Amino acid sequence: MKPLLDIEQLYVNYESQPVLHGVTLSLACGEILCLLGRSGSGKTTLLRAIAGLEEAASGIISCDGRDLRDTPPHRRGFGMMFQDYALFPHKNVAENIAFGLEMQGMKGNVAAARVKEMLELVNLAGYGERRIDELSGGQQQRVALARSLAPHPRLLLLDEPLGSLDRSLRDHLAEEIRIILKQLEVTAIFVTHDQKEAFSVADRVAVLLDGRLARLDTPEAVYRDPQQGEVASFLGFANFVEGRLDGCEFTSPLGRLRFDDMENKNEPEQRTLLLRPEGATLAGATEGRGLRVSGTVRSRICLGGYYRLRVEKIDGLNAPLTFEIPLAPTPPAAGSVVEIDVPENSMVLLAQSET
Ligand code: ADP
Repeated sequence: MKPLLDIEQLYVNYESQPVLHGVTLSLACGEILCLLGRSGSGKTTLLRAIAGLEEAASGIISCDGRDLRDTPPHRRGFGMMFQDYALFPHKNVAENIAFGLEMQGMKGNVAAARVKEMLELVNLAGYGERRIDELSGGQQQRVALARSLAPHPRLLLLDEPLGSLDRSLRDHLAEEIRIILKQLEVTAIFVTHDQKEAFSVADRVAVLLDGRLARLDTPEAVYRDPQQGEVASFLGFANFVEGRLDGCEFTSPLGRLRFDDMENKNEPEQRTLLLRPEGATLAGATEGRGLRVSGTVRSRICLGGYYRLRVEKIDGLNAPLTFEIPLAPTPPAAGSVVEIDVPENSMVLLAQSET
C-alpha cells in the first residue's frame, strides 16, 4: 500500500521547550495507527500537528507527497474526533451528523441519505431525531464517530475517543470502531494511553515515550519484543533479568540460554532478558528449550483463566518474578517451593542493558 501520510523528523516546542523530538513515521492508505503512551508523552501534540493546529519547530508533514506546511487545518480534508470536539447539544443526532456535510456544501436528499447510511453504520438506525442528552455515553461516541466519518475524510484523527467510558463499554466500542474503519477503508490515527485499547484497534502501534517514538510495529511484534526496557515497563512487563551476552550465549543467574539469531560479534556485553509472564508452566509440563526457575511462591491468585504466581527467593535475583500459569495442575500455594519452566519463545533479549 502506498503511504498517505509521511512525517519526517518532526519537532514541536511549547514555549521553546521541546515536546516532540524528531518523530518520523509514515502511514499507509487504509492503515490504522495507534499512538500509545503515558499522559504527557506528546500524543495529542503529534495529532494536533498533523491536523495543522500546532506548528512544527522543524520537520515535514506531508500527505500524498505534498508538504502540508501551508495548508490550513480546514483544507487538509482530515476528520477529527477529539475529546474537546463535543457534539452540539442543541442539535439532534441527524443534525449533528449532517454538520460536516453542510460545511462541504452537501444538502437535501443527498445529505439525508449519507446521514442515514452513517446511522446504520454505527448501529443507531432510527435514532436521527433523538436529542443528544437522551443518549448514553456510548451512543454519543457513536454519533461523534458518524459525524467525523460522514464527510469521507482522507484521514481520521481520533484523540482518546473512548476516554470517558467505562471499561467494558470501552473494550466493546474499540472493537466496533476497528470494524467500522476497516469496512470504510479509512486511514486513521487513534490516540490512547490504554494498551488494551491500542492493541484492539491498531494495525500498527507507535509507542511514544517523552516525545520520542520508541517502538513502531504491529501489536503482536511490540508485545513479543518491546526492544527497549522502557517500552517493556510501559507495557506492564516486570520480569527483567540481567546477564551477559557472549556470542549467542546469554548467561544469567537463571542459567544459560542460546539465542541463535542474536550472534553478538562484539565484546561480551551486559544485557537484559525479558521473561513474558505467559507461556510458563509448572516444571515438567512442557517439553522444549527454555529456563527453569526455582523459588518460593510469594502469592498465588486465580485470575479467571489462569493463576498469577509471584515467585521469590530465586537464587541470584533480588526481585520476584511473576508468571501466568495454567489452571491445571493447580500450582502450589504461597510459602511452598515451586519450579517453573519458561519456554524459549516467552523470552527475549532487550536491545540495551537496563543497568
Ligand atoms: P499526551 O497527549 O500524550 O497526554 P500532550 O501532547 O498533551 O501529551 O502533552 C505533551 C507535553 O506538552 C506535556 O508535558 C504537556 O504538559 C505539554 N503541553 C501540552 N499542551 C501545551 C500547551 N498548550 N502549552 C504548554 N505545554 C503544553
